[in-house]
Amino acid sequence: MHTLSISELSAGLRAKRFSSRELTLHFLKRIETLDPQLNSLITVTAERALAQADAADARLASGDATELTGIPLIQKDIFCTLGVRTSCASKMLDKFIAPYDATIVEKLDAAGMVMLGKANMDEFAMGSSNEPSWYGPVKNPWDTQRVPGGSSGGSVAAVAAGLAPIATATDTGGSIRQPAALTNLTGIKPTYGRVSRYGMIAFASSLDQAGVVARSAEDCAGVLQAMSGFDVRDSTSVDRPVDDYVSALGRDIKGLRIGLPKEYFAEGLAPSSRERIDQAIETFKKLGATFTEISLPNSPLSVPTYYVVAPAEASSNLARFDGVRFGHRAEGVKSLEELYKRSRGEGFGSEVQRRIMIGTYVLSHGYYDAYYLQAQKVRRLIYEDFRRAFESVDLVLGPTATDVAFKLGEKSDDPVSMYLNDIYTIAANLAGIPAMSLGCGFVDGLPVGLQLMGNFFDEGRLLNAAHQYQQATDWHQQSPAAFK
Ligand code: GLN
Repeated sequence: MHTLSISELSAGLRAKRFSSRELTLHFLKRIETLDPQLNSLITVTAERALAQADAADARLASGDATELTGIPLIQKDIFCTLGVRTSCASKMLDKFIAPYDATIVEKLDAAGMVMLGKANMDEFAMGSSNEPSWYGPVKNPWDTQRVPGGSSGGSVAAVAAGLAPIATATDTGGSIRQPAALTNLTGIKPTYGRVSRYGMIAFASSLDQAGVVARSAEDCAGVLQAMSGFDVRDSTSVDRPVDDYVSALGRDIKGLRIGLPKEYFAEGLAPSSRERIDQAIETFKKLGATFTEISLPNSPLSVPTYYVVAPAEASSNLARFDGVRFGHRAEGVKSLEELYKRSRGEGFGSEVQRRIMIGTYVLSHGYYDAYYLQAQKVRRLIYEDFRRAFESVDLVLGPTATDVAFKLGEKSDDPVSMYLNDIYTIAANLAGIPAMSLGCGFVDGLPVGLQLMGNFFDEGRLLNAAHQYQQATDWHQQSPAAFK
């Protein structure tokens, strides 16, 4: 059952080949036996899952089911779930039980999906390796000595190992795409404003966007569609109808114009990864796509720009964790100032503290103009690069990551080399455009990811291009030997 696609699972449920309860028990059993090797889940919600599965079975029997009713999923632990711990992988929120559901949790529950548990992640989604989690690092199912990428490392490890058919994820600078690339999954970050951020714990509000990771573009399409849409409770949510991503999957891609940014194929990209991407370009050509070289001249500035904008917003968003209203509170304090200092010092891990320090610095008097304002101007230039590119191409193609998954511990003492992981992914967040990653082959048994970026609200075209590629290849069907 764990190798079936979502549409096959849905057909199986309708044909009564298995019930949602049986499906749910199957995945819960896999979690119990296999997750100790991966640490992909912070919380398993077995009881809640079985209650949802029974409700789904009743809906299926009464004929009022959706395509997603009875399908299990894992929620990243950044989304508030009523009555269930929502930790953001931080000691700060280790004991936090959310008093409400995030909009996307509400929407997927309403569709009848079954939540198996909450996925591990980098603390407050700050990271690219899933090592800085209060609950310990997540391992990559393709090689448990290696990282799964981050910050949605738990989401991807769980799906790649067949512990769930799909998981939610979030992407502020690459946290859906980079981990998807490192685990041979398909992951999509939609246009900023497409999916509600209500109930999603904020990291950098102008960049954060929720999406999904699954084994194929087809699996992503239906769930992304169910998550998307306007939400009055999120002031940055866009009031615009959601396209039908599922029916977008049927179109052929003859004549699709794809741009290859020369900055993405320069120094820094591992030659072995580049070979796999070149092969994928040949496949797209056979499918009728045409390629032209383009330039995104400001893309080398995306990492430094991001590491001003994102920490600035994070330092402000994380000010709410002060030991007073919620979150960790230090014991035995003698003054209010000591309460703040000790609660925050004890509750946040070192990467989160580093980001708060950087953010506070770039926003402080005397430095605001030099760093923060300057970064906002460069951000605008990065957006302009894409705007210009999309005047002549439909999609942009490049690598997702510079190389395959690295070893646990390899970069944890070097924040700058960790930050450079996101060199190809950050620009899409700064510009607000949709982007996705899909597997395009292997180097020494480790997955390589291909990135596709689209124009605003062009998720349907993106998903379809990935789907057509996956119809012509079978990389996405490969799964790690140790988790068959
Ligand atoms: N790796 C980037 C960071 O550390 C992006 C994280 C994310 O997208 N949430 O900030």
